[in-house]
Amino acid sequence: MGTLLVIDDSESVRREFIEILADERDFQQFLEASDGASGLKILTNGDNPVDVVACDLNMPRMDGFQFLRSVRANPALMNVPIVMVTSQSDVSEVVKAFELGANDFIVKPFNASILKVRLKNMLHIKHLQDLLRSQKEMMEAMATTDALTNIPNRRCFSQSLEDELHRSARYGESLSILLTDLDHFKVVNDTHGHSVGDSVLRQSAQIHRDVMRKVGLVARYGGEEFVVVMPHTDLEGARIAAERLRTSFAAFHFDGLEGPGVLTISIGVATYSGGREVGGQHLVNLADKALYQAKSKGRNRVEISGDCVK
Ligand code: GH3
Ligand code: MG
Ligand code: MG
Repeated sequence: MGTLLVIDDSESVRREFIEILADERDFQQFLEASDGASGLKILTNGDNPVDVVACDLNMPRMDGFQFLRSVRANPALMNVPIVMVTSQSDVSEVVKAFELGANDFIVKPFNASILKVRLKNMLHIKHLQDLLRSQKEMMEAMATTDALTNIPNRRCFSQSLEDELHRSARYGESLSILLTDLDHFKVVNDTHGHSVGDSVLRQSAQIHRDVMRKVGLVARYGGEEFVVVMPHTDLEGARIAAERLRTSFAAFHFDGLEGPGVLTISIGVATYSGGREVGGQHLVNLADKALYQAKSKGRNRVEISGDCVK
């Protein structure tokens, strides 16, 4: 099932075309345009996604060749299958159409059987393309998203951090990261079971997002560790944000746990303050050291890396 756009200056040709295809089940919607420019408008306005285009070569205003050029120059329309319709099989015109990006051609007057199979083929190709594209998008999303919490994963974080660090170095801006780790999370699993543990991790991801949404990217770093990338944020700004996050955890009543205050979080902060460019891993190591300090000083604390990058 698909949508066909027929572009031809002759209304009777459009009628004939549609009548031949209408008794098949392949196309359930037909759109019409009387020249290339109006066809292009239908394609670009996006109200009716078009699966296949059949386009006449000789038309007033914008002819078939100009139409092909415009469509193929538009990245969003680059893959729409286009079947050119020619009055006679003038080899040089057909070759030129293929060179400009046409996918097939049909000669007038139409042979109904040939017209049907050629259009059906084009629709099949379009459906395969759509399937490939959606699977590619799904795989890309899976490669950068954590399956349990549905927030960006460590791979996505690492890439964003490198990008943001380049930007900060170029514009001489500071950038901070928070590395967070739930306190005594093992006890949650041991006491309430792994599925409550999973649910607490999901809720923890949500708290991070709620508190940090406006300041930066939140990702799951691993197990019960999260990370926040905060562009344009100096050490003091990061400390305040980390403190807000810590107190939000301490006050939160987790679904599945006894009450507020039973689960706390420790946070390590590290800041890049412009100047010599550094790698993301360097900043993560600093935040990790600060986090270790927060743990060893008793947990439910924010600690700041003493060794800020200058
Ligand atoms: P600390 O305060 O020192 O951080 O103690 P902790 O218990 O939080 O740290 P530890 O590293 O000893 O334990 C982390 C636990 O997190 C152990 C592991 O089973 C659990 N964990 C890691 N990933 C998951 C997960 O996806 N789901 C669940 N339910 N538990 C997880
Ligand atoms: Mg841990
Ligand atoms: Mg922990």
